[in-house]
Amino acid sequence: MSDSQAPRVVVVGGGFAGLQAAMHLRDAQVEVTVIDRRNFHLFQPLTYQVATGALASSEVAYPLRSIFKDCPNVRVLMGEARDFDLEARQVLLESVAGLPDPPPISYEHLIVAGGSHYSYFGHDEWTDVAPQVKSLESALVVRRRILRAFEAAELESDETRRQAWLTFVVVGAGPTGVEMAGQIAELARDTLPGDFRAIDTRSGRILLVEATDRVLTSFPPSLSGKAASALEKLGVTVCLEQMVTEIDHEGVSVKHPEGRVERIPARTVIWAAGVAASSLAARLGELTGAEVDRAGRVTVEPDLSLPGHPEVMALGDMVRVRGPDGSPQALPGVAPVAMQEGRYAARAVISRLEGTPVSPFKYHDKGNLATIGRAHAVADLPWARLSGFPAWLTWLVVHLFYLVGWQNRVLVFMRWLFSFITRGRGGRLITEEPAPPLR
Ligand SMILES: Cc1cc2nc3c(=O)[nH]c(=O)nc-3n(C[C@H](O)[C@H](O)[C@H](O)COP(=O)(O)OP(=O)(O)OC[C@H]3O[C@@H](n4cnc5c(N)ncnc54)[C@H](O)[C@@H]3O)c2cc1C
Repeated sequence: MSDSQAPRVVVVGGGFAGLQAAMHLRDAQVEVTVIDRRNFHLFQPLTYQVATGALASSEVAYPLRSIFKDCPNVRVLMGEARDFDLEARQVLLESVAGLPDPPPISYEHLIVAGGSHYSYFGHDEWTDVAPQVKSLESALVVRRRILRAFEAAELESDETRRQAWLTFVVVGAGPTGVEMAGQIAELARDTLPGDFRAIDTRSGRILLVEATDRVLTSFPPSLSGKAASALEKLGVTVCLEQMVTEIDHEGVSVKHPEGRVERIPARTVIWAAGVAASSLAARLGELTGAEVDRAGRVTVEPDLSLPGHPEVMALGDMVRVRGPDGSPQALPGVAPVAMQEGRYAARAVISRLEGTPVSPFKYHDKGNLATIGRAHAVADLPWARLSGFPAWLTWLVVHLFYLVGWQNRVLVFMRWLFSFITRGRGGRLITEEPAPPLR
């Protein structure tokens, strides 16, 4: 597609890792192709706010073409990377969204950053009944289910069935589960009460079910405790050491530590547990002999390359990085890791082209943040452990800083300011259902 003689760098995935890699190659003497199955970069840390009507889809997603509009050496292709021919140095693509079949794309350097998805621990039949908020599409499904549940409760005359509509179960108390549960509680408690006549939305039950003995296990226990109390204050019931054993359209079954199984009638279940790497990781493992762990992550060398293929790098949520002692290290599955790896990959490509040595990747941990609700968060930073309002302010500044595009930063800030003052949520729309017939 181009007559340029510049080395070709192909980046698969326009998420946090791929975006940083491509952006840091924009001034290099290379021709970059970014391939993604979507035409936008998604700011996943805020998709749960789309799911609860706090933000609109376009405020957490940004078109990849706009991002690279002023980078003449970067082109964007929409397609699904299906396979790699490492000998011929080609990425094999599949058509998406009814587009024509894309041709194989040749490279001199390949950067693969396909991310991860939620894993249902072998229960794929739960995917439909317990949607998650990993993609924009599924966040919109969650939004529809939550808002529909309140509408159904308003119409329901049977008290037992009404309670089932007003019971929301979030599975998994990592940052996403905690944030989701807190947001549903605020929706029910602060935003919706005046909107309904037959029901008191505050009587709804929000259960956060977690198999381990505390919420936010990636945080120190003291911050987990503070997060759990903040959730309880919001009206969330935190159910620890309870394992989900069954989910269907009528409810959830959970197993208590002593073996007792409890059935919870609930019409809305949201999945926020267990992550599995993109299938591209396993494919790269198969092709290069690199180790693949139980979560599907491929182990890359300390310079993020695949064994025997210095021209192929993999990064982000789909990898574990071999440490200085040779053992694989699972870095946290968070955006800063992916972004630092993306920037490193761009530097590594430039160093290789210049013939200079590439030093091993080193992650600089800048801390961990999770928000619980309006003006509540916890922050585990290298210099302090914060909770409550100071942690929430830190969370807010960090998220605004990392959002892509000035327009989105301003819009999201205005929305947060507005909902902080009014407790309102403008995005409470039930869309994507088949339209009612026109009569
Ligand atoms: C709900 C949620 C909340 C989160 N909150 C936080 C948070 O508060 N803070 C934090 O630091 N981290 C958070 N994370 C984690 C963070 O979003 C991930 O660690 C980060 O997105 C990983 O970046 P990545 O580039 O590896 O993958 P992603 O950002 O997922 O990007 C992968 C990209 O690859 C594309 N892709 C995948 N497969 C293919 C294919 N075969 N062909 C073409 N394109 C493909 C996808 O469309 C996507 O654009 C959250 C994640 C979720 C799901």
